[in-house]
Amino acid sequence: MIDNTNNIVIVSAPSATGKTSLDMRLQQQYQQQLTIVRSCTTREARSQDTQDKDYIFLSKTEFQQMIDRQEFVEWAAVFGNFYGTSRQEIERIISAGKTALLEIDVQGGKQIKKRFPEARLLFILPPTIAELRRRLVTRATDSLTAQRQRLLAAYHEIRRGLDYQYFIVNDDLELAYQDLENIIIHSTTGRLTREQGVDYCQQLMIEFKQLEKDVL
Ligand code: 5GP
Repeated sequence: MIDNTNNIVIVSAPSATGKTSLDMRLQQQYQQQLTIVRSCTTREARSQDTQDKDYIFLSKTEFQQMIDRQEFVEWAAVFGNFYGTSRQEIERIISAGKTALLEIDVQGGKQIKKRFPEARLLFILPPTIAELRRRLVTRATDSLTAQRQRLLAAYHEIRRGLDYQYFIVNDDLELAYQDLENIIIHSTTGRLTREQGVDYCQQLMIEFKQLEKDVL
């Protein structure tokens, strides 16, 4: 049984927005209060996975068996692989009186919100699309096509995230971290109101369309 669902926080963000380092820092600082939920995935492990984000790696068959046994509170296909949040992982954290932080995409976030209306939805935004593109290129874990694909995915993710409740712009790591801490730990607000966050998303979407016309 999952009660106290206000203790579920969903953090979504396009790739290379700095979500994982922000979340990991929060977890380290508030170990007694908060745990990042380990997702299940069918994607291949990458070399940086343990430092970045811990997954439970499963075969497609194992993942399907968990779907059949209704062990996921949400699951989705992202970039051709399956990702899901197991009910048991959340239960373990919530029953220990902690906040469960889910680093999942917007489709997953919305499924959780439907199931647990008290859950909080938080979206991390890049300062600009040009900066996001630069970060994707510098990171260089993906091929050029994959980078383009991730930029397009970022656009769609931002569009779908418009009905999220909290928005943080990762323009300055310290300020973004303070926003995250204020929202999740202190239950106050970050620098942006919800309306300002939505406006920011719309500006990013316009910038993407411009960049797509000129460069991509
Ligand atoms: P990556 O493979 O780069 O770690 O993650 C790719 C995308 O999958 C990210 O947008 C991430 O938020 C999303 N993701 C990771 N775990 C889950 C999950 O359990 N459920 C859903 N719906 N998305 C997830």
